[in-house]
Amino acid sequence: MLSYRHAFHAGNAADVLKHAVLMFCLDYLRQKEKSFLVVDTHAGAGFYSLAEGYAAQNREWERGVWRLLDQFHLPPLLADYTTLVREALGGELPPAGRYPGSPALIQKLLREQDRAVCFELHPADFTALRENFSTDRRFRLLREDGLGGLKALLPPSSRRGCVFIDPSYEMKSDYSTAPEHLAEALRRFPTGLYITWYPLLGRKSGAGLPAEAGGEGEALRETLRGLYGGNRCTVELRTAKPPALPGTFPGVPGVRFSGTNSAPRMYGSGMVIYNPPWTLREALAESLPVLASLLGGEQGCWDLWWEGE
Ligand code: SAM
Repeated sequence: MLSYRHAFHAGNAADVLKHAVLMFCLDYLRQKEKSFLVVDTHAGAGFYSLAEGYAAQNREWERGVWRLLDQFHLPPLLADYTTLVREALGGELPPAGRYPGSPALIQKLLREQDRAVCFELHPADFTALRENFSTDRRFRLLREDGLGGLKALLPPSSRRGCVFIDPSYEMKSDYSTAPEHLAEALRRFPTGLYITWYPLLGRKSGAGLPAEAGGEGEALRETLRGLYGGNRCTVELRTAKPPALPGTFPGVPGVRFSGTNSAPRMYGSGMVIYNPPWTLREALAESLPVLASLLGGEQGCWDLWWEGE
């Protein structure tokens, strides 16, 4: 039974990074006339009201996208994203409009000749997704497992496509099934552009990992980096300090910290991107310091690895 609802987190720091990068990649694919396919394996509802409902409870967007909206000298990767969100939300507080999730961004960038397939399993979010996009004939909406359904769509007939994999990681099995399905997708469509998102979470005690091994997000990042030998980019943005890992209590010799009362908390997130646009490297290099400062202040920091042939 799925209980994750993306509306609680819409417009947070993780959304800012993943959505700005998704837009940049789709914009790159638009540079050639030939059609492309976008597969959004975990689509969510598509649009999120920030002023009411779940998003209004923790107001994560206030520490996320809201901090960009009054900035008018951003690097292009962030400026394009911010312009689109500004139009969608309007400038008032609380924002009157709806925050555009990944299917909404895809819709903005899709041309007549392009197609999108969006998977969503949660019944309520799928209903919202259908209400938002069913009249757009370029979209196919499926209430099915997006990871399992991916391979049947690959390779696209145009041999051009972008796969956006954005699980909630509510099911611990997502950490292992995502790379398994990606490996199969890559076998079928090795030239595709793939974007896989992962969270950086403070680890709960009892995760069975030694303290120095890092959390599941870091482990998944390493698995994903090793899965593909072609061009790949890994980007991480941290907006808070990683919580203390179980081990010696900081500053108190001999006192052990079990970590039992520390709920998992997201202190950052990252993405591994296969076959990224070559222009993404410079775009990220100029955007990440800005994002780290706006969204993380003194605790903001970032990493960018660019690897490949
Ligand atoms: N991609 C969305 C965006 O950027 O606006 C947010 C997606 S949210 C992080 C993850 C979504 O995946 C949730 O709405 C959840 O219900 C859905 N989900 C979880 N497991 C899934 C699966 N196996 N297949 C399809 N959807 C799934």
